[in-house]
Amino acid sequence: MMDHTTAASRVLKLRKEIDRYRYQYHVLNALEISEAALDALKHELYTLEQQYPDLITPDSPTQRVAGEAASGFVKVTHAVRMLSIEDAFSFDEVEAWRDRLQKLRPRDVFDFYADPKMDGLAMSLLYRDGRFIRGATRGDGRVGEDVTQNLRTIEAIPMQLRIPSDQEVAGFLKRFHGACDESLVRRLFRSSIGELEVRGEAYMTKAQLVRLNTILKKRGEPELANPRNAAAGTIRQLDARIAAERKLSFMAYGLIGDYGLQTMEQRYAALALLGFPVNPIGRRCESLGVVKAVFEDLGKRREKLAYWIDGLVLSVNDLALQESLGVVGKTPRAMVAWKFPAEQGTTIVRDIVVSVGRTGALTPVAVMDPVKLVGTTVTHATLHNEDEIRRLGVKIGDTVIVEKAGDVIPKIIRVLPGMRTGKEKPFRMPTRCPICGSPVSRKEGEVATVCTNRSCFAQELARLLHFVSRPALDIRGLGDKIMEQLIQEGLVREEADLYALIPDDLIGLEGFADVSAKKLVDEIQAHRHPPLGRFLNALGIRHVGEETAADLATRFGTFASLRSATKEELMAVEGVGEIVADSLVTFFHDRRESDRLNRLLEVVTPQRAEKKIGKLEGTTWVFTGSLTSLSREEAKERVRAMGADVSETVSKKTTYVVVGDDPGSKAEKAQKLGVEILTEADFLKKVQ
Ligand SMILES: [Zn+2]
Repeated sequence: MMDHTTAASRVLKLRKEIDRYRYQYHVLNALEISEAALDALKHELYTLEQQYPDLITPDSPTQRVAGEAASGFVKVTHAVRMLSIEDAFSFDEVEAWRDRLQKLRPRDVFDFYADPKMDGLAMSLLYRDGRFIRGATRGDGRVGEDVTQNLRTIEAIPMQLRIPSDQEVAGFLKRFHGACDESLVRRLFRSSIGELEVRGEAYMTKAQLVRLNTILKKRGEPELANPRNAAAGTIRQLDARIAAERKLSFMAYGLIGDYGLQTMEQRYAALALLGFPVNPIGRRCESLGVVKAVFEDLGKRREKLAYWIDGLVLSVNDLALQESLGVVGKTPRAMVAWKFPAEQGTTIVRDIVVSVGRTGALTPVAVMDPVKLVGTTVTHATLHNEDEIRRLGVKIGDTVIVEKAGDVIPKIIRVLPGMRTGKEKPFRMPTRCPICGSPVSRKEGEVATVCTNRSCFAQELARLLHFVSRPALDIRGLGDKIMEQLIQEGLVREEADLYALIPDDLIGLEGFADVSAKKLVDEIQAHRHPPLGRFLNALGIRHVGEETAADLATRFGTFASLRSATKEELMAVEGVGEIVADSLVTFFHDRRESDRLNRLLEVVTPQRAEKKIGKLEGTTWVFTGSLTSLSREEAKERVRAMGADVSETVSKKTTYVVVGDDPGSKAEKAQKLGVEILTEADFLKKVQ
């Protein structure tokens, strides 16, 4: 959570930025950024104001309805303010909304009405004695624009209210028997009821937008970017003939005034009988569990719908309860719009790190606060190279718009300079390779900065692959293809980074789906406490192989005591000569290696090794050829666990040589030296 001072200054900047875009959007009809990005900024402002309510001011964009009546239209004052609805971006936020309501009305049982949120333009339709007399936009919520002529061109809007048949009225009263005021409802269904206001959404279907853009393109006119722009642009045509040609549709959701209806469900049913299209997907939900199921189902179906939706509007079903919960700022408490994750969002760049690719090219990668976009949480975005950073003008600390479209890797679209505090730091390409420390170079006329050490990436890849290999940490499912991708995307630069991976980092990489991503992350997390010997081997210290690592582990017991051992102490271990001891000391004293090791030790705790005294104590084993009932690694571990030493070479000191299929020269040598040779069966008997 942001501290109060930081939040206060960020809130100010957010307001200024949002106001600027609001003006572009509603007055100029030309938004510089996407609506999703603008929504993300509004949502951040709302969240900060929820955390620090003292920061709320009456002029905050969260306190007012978006929009302003444009000139060129007659202004209309709404009898009842047209409010807007607060957004929620996760089920957690929806639950928090319900909990707030429950706190206000502890004794009430809540059920909900869920209706798809159409991506169009909110409209108010006024009828007098059943006849359509005026249509208006929302405007700023109090004053809108009179667009009656344009709305008359929308076939889905009845010019005359429908009079339901006696049978239909009876059916309605039977369905909601005892739950509505019968005489008022009967009155509603007769046409002579004075003034009646219906609200709903004017929208353009997907097919129509395609048709329209084809026509516009032919005429050399600018195409319409998205459905809401299309609807807004059409409604705001001063020439009704143009509006007519654009063929908008309409769906109703609101009915202003008391007509004896007691729930949202009844209201939708009544609107349908009066001749208004209502969304057939809309339904009463007896609990948030049902709401969740509806939302998820809708998420899967939305691509196939004939129109665009951007979420689900949830309302408290009971109208009296809705009314009594009131309005906070510009939004009714009893409603929330649960939005689908968008392809774009805003976040803050916390750092820019550099990854080294297979070609040795240094790639700057932005590390960001997690941002939820379609299907994933994004924390990293590649910045490609120095030129791209310059083009974007991105600095560390900047607020940016990030996009994740389809299977494409997330990218930063643009920086919001209005959000700067002055503390942002420019990024500089390092002069030395962050992996191997070699100097880097950038050739004239090329965009890439390259590590001059040709084997740099290969070395790093090999080192990480060794870390996860069977005799080391034995993390399954991290083959070279995957590891290469992880390094190239900047997700993994060293061992410790493996433990920070989340499933969302992997989804989108070649060959990963939800299940496989989670499986790999679980597998990595299961290897936080490796045996000391394996851990030591995994570090890839020169001259310290599997055997030496195991010997050192049993001798020193803990990693800390091994790390602080002197050269002499190390050389006291059997099989550790001067070369090995020097190598260990050099490794542990190297600053770069120490830092890397410390970061690893923050996420991995090697087990304490115990000096084993088993029945094979004092024996030395050599394995050659492949075994059938277990792997050679497993066999070695078996005898080691019983106190034996394992060696790779046969000598006079060797006690047993276990010979499997296709043995090498070791078997011959054992015979020559007179060392006892065991078959796999003999071996299994000894380790029983
Ligand atoms: Zn390098």
